[in-house]
Amino acid sequence: AVVTRFAPSPTGPLNIGGLYAALISERLAHQSNGVFIFRIEDTDKKREVQGSIENMIHSLSYFRIPYDEGPDLSGVDQGAYGPYKQSERIQIYKVFMKGLVRNGLAYPCFCDSGDLQQLRITQQKLKVTTGYYGSWAKHRDITVEQAQEQILNGKSFVIRLRSSGSSGRRVLFTDLVKGPMELPENEQDIVIMKTDGLPTYHFAHVIDDYLMGTTHVIRGDEWLSSVPVHIQLFETLGFKIPEYGHIAPIMKQVGASKRKFSKRKDLDGTAMYYQEQGYPGIAIGEYFMTLANSDFEEWRKANPNASFRDFVIDTDKMNASGALLDMNKLHDISKDVISRLTDQQVVDHVSTWSKEHDPELFAFIGKNQEYTINILNIGRTIEKPRKDYAKWSDVKTMIAFFYDEWFEMEVTSGYKLPANVSFDAAKEIVRGFSTSYRFNHDKEAWFETLKELAAELGYAKDMKQYKADPNRYKGHVGDVAMVIRVALTNRTHTPDLFDLMKVMGEHRVLARMKRFML
Ligand code: GLU
Repeated sequence: AVVTRFAPSPTGPLNIGGLYAALISERLAHQSNGVFIFRIEDTDKKREVQGSIENMIHSLSYFRIPYDEGPDLSGVDQGAYGPYKQSERIQIYKVFMKGLVRNGLAYPCFCDSGDLQQLRITQQKLKVTTGYYGSWAKHRDITVEQAQEQILNGKSFVIRLRSSGSSGRRVLFTDLVKGPMELPENEQDIVIMKTDGLPTYHFAHVIDDYLMGTTHVIRGDEWLSSVPVHIQLFETLGFKIPEYGHIAPIMKQVGASKRKFSKRKDLDGTAMYYQEQGYPGIAIGEYFMTLANSDFEEWRKANPNASFRDFVIDTDKMNASGALLDMNKLHDISKDVISRLTDQQVVDHVSTWSKEHDPELFAFIGKNQEYTINILNIGRTIEKPRKDYAKWSDVKTMIAFFYDEWFEMEVTSGYKLPANVSFDAAKEIVRGFSTSYRFNHDKEAWFETLKELAAELGYAKDMKQYKADPNRYKGHVGDVAMVIRVALTNRTHTPDLFDLMKVMGEHRVLARMKRFML
């Protein structure tokens, strides 16, 4: 079976590239009934940022990237290959470390920073980039007795992996995404255990990938150049080398060019940003599929109602260079995804999202549940799904006016009538409408009443009539509708007026008209 893993270091919030890599890894495992592991690589305590692990767990759950094994799953469900936090696996790494040292494949190195500085100077003088050996053989070939003496003297040390020297060998492998690769072999005696007794990432992740049975290592292509070191470690330890797939980063559009997301500057480079904005998890997933395989869109057309999880990713077809995060496209996809949700699903999503990110909206929804369902689904039909929302944070501005407390707050600073309509003329229209207004369930009949009212007040019944003799009329029925719209919503753009009046209900409509005429 295919076993993949997502193995971030907790050095900050999950970024968009990490989220992408996590989803691809999850899909590759699950599309073939395999296993997807979530592992925390936290052996570099200096770089650890408090709260990162919680942030990552939260993001993976928001974006619905389910893992079969991971640090936060409880009991038996956690998986049989744990613990899934490297800091809890130190004893495991030590066992393998000792084995390597015992076999002369790794050795303790007592160099201090002064020694290392000397090494660099020598290397520069000799114009060689060779590794740690060479004139430093005395450090590499230290005897057990010498090492013990140093340790007894309290000298700190690291453990280094013994490299084979500069044989000029090239490392050949076929990357699932990048294709055939040829990289120079590693010549350095890399550190595999630091002075604090913790393993380095290179060492720990190889042990874990072996013990956890990882078959496919899918990760960002910043790790591509480390593959020779990793292959060297797998070989030295006598472990089977996994398949590699190095994914190109997602790039940010800046003007006409693109660049990598900056960890410090780009807020939209974190997964959190998309959660706060309220992009549905499935919209991001769907969008990521379009980045992964260009034939996804064709598949989507042929399978309009399928879950994106039914699409089978082909790593051969993945873009080897960075794909652009196209916000417009993401919005279109997201609107599409939302339009496919049921009425109840939309409300559930908005409710869950606002609970965390917009307590004010959440409170309004909580107080007016039935009303909210009707509001959110106003004008939505199966044949003609509404595509207003790209993200849940769009919802508030679009629906706020429906709630009376909110509406009252907005109109205290005045109604926003179009410039060509005087307040007196508007009042006349609203007065006329409120007297003739009957709660009507038939749209045609309702529109007839509106036309009659228009005619009574000196407005043309339709555009054609108006255009034929504009000087005869104060305006046309569209102007009349606009005034009523502003009186009821204080907005010039809203969903269909008839639909929204139906949702507001007779009582509220009359009250708002009265309010307007004050
Ligand atoms: N811990 C590494 C990171 O933070 C994982 C690299 C890998 O997947 O091997 O990106």
